[in-house]
Amino acid sequence: MSQQLVQAAGVKTFLETRARKLLINNEWVDASDAAMIDSVDPATGETLASIAEANKDDVDRAVSAARVAFESNEWHNMTGSTRAKLMWRMADLMEEHIDELAELETLDQGKPLYVGRWAEIPGAIEQFRYFGGQCTRLEGTTIPTSIDYQPEGKRIFAYTVKEPVGVVAAIVPWNSPLIMAAMKLAPILAAGCTVILKPAEDTSLTAIRLGELLIEAGFPPGVINILTGRGEVTGQALVEHPGVDKIAFTGSTEIGKKIVADARHNLKRVTLELGGKSPVIIMPDADLEAAIPGAANAIFFNGGQVCVAGSRIYAHSSVFEQVVEGVSAAANSMQLGHGLDPETHCGPLVSAKHSGRVANYIDGGIAAGAEVRAGGSREDASSNFIQPTVMTNVTPDMAVVREEIFGPVVVCDAFDDVEEVLSKAHDTTYGLASSVWTSDHGTAHTMASDLRAGTVWINCHSMYDATLPIGGIKESGWGRESGQQAVDNYMELKTVCSVV
Ligand code: NAD
Repeated sequence: MSQQLVQAAGVKTFLETRARKLLINNEWVDASDAAMIDSVDPATGETLASIAEANKDDVDRAVSAARVAFESNEWHNMTGSTRAKLMWRMADLMEEHIDELAELETLDQGKPLYVGRWAEIPGAIEQFRYFGGQCTRLEGTTIPTSIDYQPEGKRIFAYTVKEPVGVVAAIVPWNSPLIMAAMKLAPILAAGCTVILKPAEDTSLTAIRLGELLIEAGFPPGVINILTGRGEVTGQALVEHPGVDKIAFTGSTEIGKKIVADARHNLKRVTLELGGKSPVIIMPDADLEAAIPGAANAIFFNGGQVCVAGSRIYAHSSVFEQVVEGVSAAANSMQLGHGLDPETHCGPLVSAKHSGRVANYIDGGIAAGAEVRAGGSREDASSNFIQPTVMTNVTPDMAVVREEIFGPVVVCDAFDDVEEVLSKAHDTTYGLASSVWTSDHGTAHTMASDLRAGTVWINCHSMYDATLPIGGIKESGWGRESGQQAVDNYMELKTVCSVV
């Protein structure tokens, strides 16, 4: 039924092949035990395709292919400018297929089409362009040393060289599958590493389409391998594999902690982009015409399935009621529907498991005494559609205030002074992002300095760009993606010190 809404010819062609394979060494192959998982449209429950599930043997095959490719002349000795051209070619191909990629993402993940078409897929393309530009800038430094015991008549020359870390396993979540994959692949390829990408089991279709485009772009065999499958099977085998040098993970804090434990055996390098419970702080002098829709968008964009979602609104008591009314009105005005319907503002959540989890949080908040000012339920018990929900009368101990819900649910609380709001904002195990809404530059930058989070947005929220580092402190993760230094996540620094 949902496929009747499909416009892009490429999506229709893609969906004609029902059984989807693993990409190893530029060949599409079956899982060695022929295991398959269904991929469904979360809006309708229709099966879109079956995807292969890679087991330990398949992981072995992919790691070997990535290792051989890493050591090969073709990849190792490829100049930065040739790697850059491949990456730009990839970006061009994605742009040619942008409508198709956006529709496929919506079918598989549920998100409203505009989210993929105008925000996430252009952002994914930009990752390849931006990091393509870095391929020729992987420079070390020369170091004037302080060593004073060099042999008579000799001199010391010292410098550093950046070298690729090796074979990377990139494991990504289901909320924004294509851009999450691009945020890993682009710096990994720029660094000269090889990679095994594991998309989330609920949303693998755009990664598979990306694999087809990567072959078309001309990447050598084994440089990019794509293994679909569940986390506890495929993901776990990658994390434990001794041939993997580095894990780049985006997902929940719970699984991030498990990955750190499982990767310890060969001391794999690990970077982690994890969960958040990001505060949106609205000061008494904020421009409410911008702050209210900004706060609503911070939580309801992509149904709140955004790591940096502004899931806690703290508004000064002088504007609190106005903010709650405004955000609630925005919530009530949002049209729920299939993501491919152009009228839809809010699609289904990604799966029955996840929508059940979000509904439980709402019920738990109500049972604990929170007041519902908008939304508050599912369309019906079997539906993945959750109404955008606004809650007030919350206390710091409630699960809705403390835990990441990852759905369209926001809690609102009032404050009277800066000290109080900073204390509330910091009362969390997370530290991913935050935003401050104010007309006063002094307040803005003082709060930006005082807020403990990886990103502070001022008079905006969720501004993503390939140029802007993103990542968290505390239990929101280790390291940063995007921005110039992200490529260093995939490089080792070698020091050369010579006496000549
Ligand atoms: P998840 O942790 O359940 O899964 C993420 C990925 O890890 C999936 O591919 C999954 O199959 C895999 N996985 C699961 N168990 C594994 C294991 N034992 N070993 C190896 N891999 C395993 O997360 P999710 O539910 O898919 O995504 C939502 C979470 O992702 C949220 O917490 C959200 O905040 C976080 N996220 C963070 C960022 C960021 O940049 N900080 C961005 C997007 C999403």
